[in-house]
Amino acid sequence: MDQPNVGNDVEKVLVTHDQIINRLTELARQVEKDYAGKDLLLIGVLKGAVMVMADFSRLLNKHIEIDWMAVSSYGSGTKSSGVVRILKDLDIDINNRNVVIVEDIVDTGLTLSWLKSNLESRGAASVEILTVLRKPEAAKVKVDVKYVGFEIPSDFVVGYGLDYNEKYRNLDFIGVLSKSIYE
Ligand code: 5GP
Repeated sequence: MDQPNVGNDVEKVLVTHDQIINRLTELARQVEKDYAGKDLLLIGVLKGAVMVMADFSRLLNKHIEIDWMAVSSYGSGTKSSGVVRILKDLDIDINNRNVVIVEDIVDTGLTLSWLKSNLESRGAASVEILTVLRKPEAAKVKVDVKYVGFEIPSDFVVGYGLDYNEKYRNLDFIGVLSKSIYE
């Protein structure tokens, strides 16, 4: 399957690849300023954050380290419940480290709110969050997201790491999946 065919399943492009890179570049300058003279560990949440981690880390002009976690949210159907299980834990000890969690999307914020307190309880010096996308639902849970790429409507989106049944992660843009694909 080549890229144009994959893209045909998208009914509307929400954010183009250029827009993503431009916004990540702005956020990189902000993060460089905020962490000037400080160490920084980026923690990506698998699998969705793979694309943003690859692009964002390469835009940062400072020494960083990268680690990964995989978590699964228990929930009914498509709703996450906030009860989270760690599928893959960190390799690096985060005691006294400045951490930025790198995420693809914040929907209800339940997963991230759990993850943030989990990392804080391990003695991290600071824990902030960077996400490419935030949906309006996120306002319902009190989770401080310091670095937000784009605010989007609550439609189901795919691309740039985000999947539907593990597919579409390799689109280089973010779009709304056609209803004909899942109805
Ligand atoms: P929450 O913030 O609700 O705890 O969970 C966020 C997770 O739900 C994300 O990491 C992502 O896996 C999934 N998710 C939420 N909205 C969407 C969406 O529009 N598209 C895709 N592909 N996944 C989503």
